[in-house]
Amino acid sequence: MIDLHCHSNISDGALPPREVVRLAHANGCTLLALTDHDHTGGLAEARQEAEALGLRLVSGVEISVSWRKRTIHMVGLNFDEQNSRLQTLLAQVRQGRLERFARMAEKLERRGFAGAYEGALALVPNREMASRTHLAQWLIEQGHVRNKQQAFKKYLGDGKPAWVKHEWASLEQAVAAVLGAGGIAVIAHPIRYGLSATAQRNLFTEFKALGGQAIEVHSATTNLNDRLNYARLAEQHGFLASAGSDFHRAGDFGSGKLGACPPLPERCRPVWQEFCL
Ligand code: AMP
Ligand code: MN
Ligand code: MN
Ligand code: MN
Repeated sequence: MIDLHCHSNISDGALPPREVVRLAHANGCTLLALTDHDHTGGLAEARQEAEALGLRLVSGVEISVSWRKRTIHMVGLNFDEQNSRLQTLLAQVRQGRLERFARMAEKLERRGFAGAYEGALALVPNREMASRTHLAQWLIEQGHVRNKQQAFKKYLGDGKPAWVKHEWASLEQAVAAVLGAGGIAVIAHPIRYGLSATAQRNLFTEFKALGGQAIEVHSATTNLNDRLNYARLAEQHGFLASAGSDFHRAGDFGSGKLGACPPLPERCRPVWQEFCL
């Protein structure tokens, strides 16, 4: 049982790293990567717990990337988290987050949601990781929306009224930092970007040329057809295949079961063959 994409409260998940590992283990997981957004601060605690429980933990991170005016997420796996170039890039990416959060909250306030900034900020355990998930949580708590999906659909999603443009890392920087730290670069949840077939091909081709090695063939709640489709694309582009739940919290709409991804299609070359030799 494998899961190479999940979140703790170091970024926008609900559980501390230790409890993420415990829950994954309870769900039968034997190989786990904790992939918090733009932060590797949960890995030490997660690793300690994984060792105690006897499950394999590989280092992970989910880097926010700007690619052709869109936000793309790139997962790094099995890298040296002490690597200074990688940590410098992650620190840079985190630096703009709070300011972006404030600009988004201000847009919500201008739409009549008084107290959005203070209220949502109170829900953020770690200010440099203030995210849209926390803004969504506040909108839900205040009864302005029914759930996270609605919060993104009505206000927070890319191009929606409270969204602001923001420059994250470039794809080139993200790939170079992960490869330079000895890791594997993976396009996270390609199914979620709403890219045309052409734009997706361009993304994969560019990513491959930069040295990117894998894509998530399974992410969160794909169905068998989705997985067959991305397995075919992975093969066409010469990518390894990864799988991750993108778990954030129990009962979250649109996130898979922590630690228990469905099997990859036969034709896939699983990314974990690279670190389970
Ligand atoms: P941020 O890094 O601040 O842009 O926040 C991105 C996070 O918001 C993602 O990692 C997801 O947890 C969540 N998210 C993004 N888009 C959606 C969506 N359409 N529905 C639900 N959650 C989303
Ligand atoms: Mn998230
Ligand atoms: Mn993501
Ligand atoms: Mn994620």
